[in-house]
Amino acid sequence: MAGALRPIPEVPERADRLLGAIERLGLQAEEPVDAGLAPLAAVHTPEYLEFLQNIHAEWQALGGSRDVVPSVHPNYRNGVYPRAAVGRAGYHLADTACPVSAETWDAVRTSANAAVAAAHTVREGARHAYALCRPPGHHAYADMAGGFCYLNNAAIAAQTLRTAVDRVAVLDIDLHHGNGTQGVFYRRDDVLTVSVHVDPSDFYPFFWGHASERGEGAGLGYNHNLPLPLGAGDDAFLAALEAALARIEAFAPGCMVLSLGLDASAEDPFGGLTVTSDGFAAIGRRIGAVTCPVALIQEGGYLSDVLGENLYRFLGAFLEAR
Ligand code: ZN
Repeated sequence: MAGALRPIPEVPERADRLLGAIERLGLQAEEPVDAGLAPLAAVHTPEYLEFLQNIHAEWQALGGSRDVVPSVHPNYRNGVYPRAAVGRAGYHLADTACPVSAETWDAVRTSANAAVAAAHTVREGARHAYALCRPPGHHAYADMAGGFCYLNNAAIAAQTLRTAVDRVAVLDIDLHHGNGTQGVFYRRDDVLTVSVHVDPSDFYPFFWGHASERGEGAGLGYNHNLPLPLGAGDDAFLAALEAALARIEAFAPGCMVLSLGLDASAEDPFGGLTVTSDGFAAIGRRIGAVTCPVALIQEGGYLSDVLGENLYRFLGAFLEAR
């Protein structure tokens, strides 16, 4: 932020807090099975998956830094794919909040496996399933990582569900705009993407998430952004959610994927919006009333005293409303 080096807030303790909420609800957590590369390759490009697997070893062989962090970016892409490792790092990594370490590939594969497992559970007839994904995924494009995200877990879940139903809706309620998910489906009319988030004029991802971005080609009208003013709270969030769900209802999806970020919390260190724990319960209750099956994919939400509480309140109210 503003050039200062800060520790990355996407830390393992997040998963411990979220898992604690799951246990408090009396739910049984399961380890996901390895779904293989096919569900990933249905969303991401071959060169990007190859890059995520191999760039760290290649970087080390060149005498590079401990983690792969780009120093150059193709701000205006023209289709050229560089041969040099530093060029490919710039091509595939949108910002400095997605360094590639020796463990990144294993971590992102496991996270994506959880999303695929949730999609499979719903595809096989469950009304809902929750994937505790870490790292999150909604800033990841088909060929680009960004903002702690590498593989787009929600897009992978949506594409997996798309094999069973004609239309899938993705609702993203993370504090930040789900730019990667928007990018993956921007030219398609079979996957509706709807995002409620803080105004990107003031907040990451800055360049995407504005209300004027409505899709392209066949996808025109199938992307819906609902930015909220900086500092907005429960009432504004719930009003935007109502508009989002009306759009989704009109689309009549066979399944919905929920990108469940908890960083709109008033206590979240990002400080963009001011949703309370009661607000998360109200949001959960409203989304729980959606009639189609829902795969819930964990996105952001960073360490605060109420991170676990907010998942507990959200999921408790969601389940009550199902
Ligand atoms: Zn976020």
